[in-house]
Amino acid sequence: MPESTHCIFCKIIRGNIPAIKVHEDDHTLTFMDIQPASPGHALVIPKTHAANLLEIAEADLLAATRTVQRVARAAQKALAPDGIRIVQTNGTAAGQTVFHYHVHIIPMQEGQRIGTHGRALANPEELKALASQIRDALEH
Ligand code: 5GP
Ligand code: ZN
Repeated sequence: MPESTHCIFCKIIRGNIPAIKVHEDDHTLTFMDIQPASPGHALVIPKTHAANLLEIAEADLLAATRTVQRVARAAQKALAPDGIRIVQTNGTAAGQTVFHYHVHIIPMQEGQRIGTHGRALANPEELKALASQIRDALEH
């Protein structure tokens, strides 16, 4: 059975489990992290399953990186954070918990001391509002 059958992010891509989407194109999907480290925390994934940076095909890596820049610019415009942290984990020892390549986009405020993972599940209505703010700021 392919690895992607049980992969939670592949299930999101297939629409088998819900996610609050920010952006979608032929090669990538961006959605809100369910347990955000800060308001506006989004994840960018390639549509083709790859466990991590070591395994992803170059074309998917480039597509994902392009989307990361677009969404980070939109988050900057929409939410005006003091900074944006980009995090990508490879392997359990590095903090990876979902084994489908993903890039975290985490808006940061000055003096904020947070990690990559939030402590609690977010309110879906708040996630929807943030997703729509970021989506509206995307440049076409
Ligand atoms: P990692 O720890 O692998 O770098 O990051 C995985 C991220 O995926 C975590 O920040 C976690 O909150 C998020 N996550 C895990 N499961 C789901 C899910 O079903 N939906 C969404 N939207 N995010 C998820
Ligand atoms: Zn997957």
